[in-house]
Amino acid sequence: MADYREILQRMARGERVDTEVLTELIASADEDVREYAAALAREVAQEYFGNGVYLRGLVEISNRCSRGCYYCGLRAENDAVHRYSLSHDEVAEACAEGYNLGFRSFVLQGGEMHNIQDDVAILTKRLRNEMPEVALTLSLGEQSYETYRRWREAGADRYLLRHETATKSHYQRLHPEWMSYDERLECLDNLHALGYQRGAGFMVGSPWQGAAELATEIDFLSKMRPEMVGIGPFIPQSATPFAVYERGSVEQTLLMISLVRLTLPKALIPATTALASSDEAGTSRGVMAGANVVMPNLTPRRVRGDYAIYDGKKSYGSESAEGVEMLAEQLFRVGYEPRMTRGDHPDFVPANK
Ligand code: SAM
Repeated sequence: MADYREILQRMARGERVDTEVLTELIASADEDVREYAAALAREVAQEYFGNGVYLRGLVEISNRCSRGCYYCGLRAENDAVHRYSLSHDEVAEACAEGYNLGFRSFVLQGGEMHNIQDDVAILTKRLRNEMPEVALTLSLGEQSYETYRRWREAGADRYLLRHETATKSHYQRLHPEWMSYDERLECLDNLHALGYQRGAGFMVGSPWQGAAELATEIDFLSKMRPEMVGIGPFIPQSATPFAVYERGSVEQTLLMISLVRLTLPKALIPATTALASSDEAGTSRGVMAGANVVMPNLTPRRVRGDYAIYDGKKSYGSESAEGVEMLAEQLFRVGYEPRMTRGDHPDFVPANK
């Protein structure tokens, strides 16, 4: 293989690396490669974010979903899950609890439903009025341009919609044929056009994904340049068609975080719950690989276990908002500190700050 240090240094300088070269690097990466990539990624992140890690309070507002993603425990066909939708008061209370703990950035996430346009607009407006200075992120799947427009107008700043895989044929194998890669990308375009800070992202180690698909992620993201990128290992969920597949590797996830950091130096990259659920030290290892966001869970405890997108999902301890001190300690131990500000993308000037 070509000198991997030179390849990674080229990436750190913002140069494009050929996808075949990257495929080889990903396929043959050993601990040396991963550590060198992580060291460069930390350097790059330090430049824009210092030793700060942004915290966002995550509220899982509903686990009802009309989609059929083969990997996800919330898929419509799964009757083994107890379905819930939080009331507006419950969401507002969860956010108020987070606000009192110091959070100034909230993420409302849920399954994809198409009868929630008004409901979410009203909820967003309410939260925006109650907490004018906070950042509000929505993550409620694919919606029409008009729905995204209304939610933006109601006060949403950001939207998370992972593309899941940048390879169209691979996307088709992870989803039923009535789900469309092109429509998902169109949604990401619409979000951008509407002035959202948008989050794309992908799973690492989903079935049939190899080094070539992972290298394609880098190429794809370097073109799209989303403000946020969520990267987490695939974890099987026992009530899904993908229950029997192997989980994604933590090491490969960390390498991908580092490569994405080198590709998009200013991006907001979370150390995801899937990473923390796969490794005791997943959060700090993610930060040491170049991540700069953590999203502790603020969902009311009575339904927290029902948001079962994969088996063994962590939502207590340092993964929860009430465990924020534990999380802060973990970050301090590796030389980082929590930041509870809005945490906008460095190029982004929020209109409603
Ligand atoms: N419904 C919204 C959407 O589709 O964007 C947001 C909620 S969805 C549950 C959030 C993310 O969970 C997905 O984008 C996917 O990457 C991740 N996810 C779902 N099932 C997973 C699994 N088995 N392992 C790892 N991540 C998973």
